[in-house]
Amino acid sequence: MPQPAGFPAVFRGLAAAFRSLFAVADIECGPMRLLIVEDSEELSELLAKGLQKAGYDSDVLQTLADARIAIAGARYAAVILDLGLPDGDGLTLLRELRQRKDPVPILVLTARSGIGDRVGGLRAGADDYLVKPFAFDELIARLEALLRRPGQMLGRSLGLANLTFDTESREVFIDGKPQTLSAREIAVLELLLRRVNSVVSKKLVEDQIFGLGGDLASNAIEVYIHRLRKQLSERGAKVVIRTVRGVGYLISEEK
Ligand code: CA
Repeated sequence: MPQPAGFPAVFRGLAAAFRSLFAVADIECGPMRLLIVEDSEELSELLAKGLQKAGYDSDVLQTLADARIAIAGARYAAVILDLGLPDGDGLTLLRELRQRKDPVPILVLTARSGIGDRVGGLRAGADDYLVKPFAFDELIARLEALLRRPGQMLGRSLGLANLTFDTESREVFIDGKPQTLSAREIAVLELLLRRVNSVVSKKLVEDQIFGLGGDLASNAIEVYIHRLRKQLSERGAKVVIRTVRGVGYLISEEK
């Protein structure tokens, strides 16, 4: 729905809430409208301006309460979510959205750089995260990767060729048949599937594996990727996991 330029985001959020109260259908924000939930005015202004330059309009909100109202009334292409907010933790909102199966892509921005925090974000249903301070180019690159993903990569079931992964039961199927894989292999597979056809950094894979606890050797990532590749190919999955040297890994359909 078009809004006058400069219309304060909070009013847009409230207006959206009123419209949803009257049971009007979802308001289309246009394909590329983003929601920024960030309480640092300096940072959110910078984000909004930078995103505008890159061709994305955004609404800026500072609290979980306002974000809830806005998301209930409007459809955003993606949400950029800070975790430390004045009225609570951004992860709470993330969990609420995923619990009610809202597939909106969410990129978490956080000052928390501990491995537990990063993995916690991914487990709660974040699609990606960036640790502050970050380079703006990286934010745009990550965001574009999220926006490029096909819709089915965001829902409950992730599929590629004859491979399907149910994100709730955490079961893997090949040609519709259930497969037994280890928790770590499944965690890595999920990470790759959520970013199908995009390179997933080695760091992210490492976090995902280490997040499950236990001591791992420094070559553990290679070992898990190797094992996962072997398992998938032996069972006839028509997918390939490629190593992008020095960068990370990418899953795609077998050609
Ligand atoms: Ca904050």
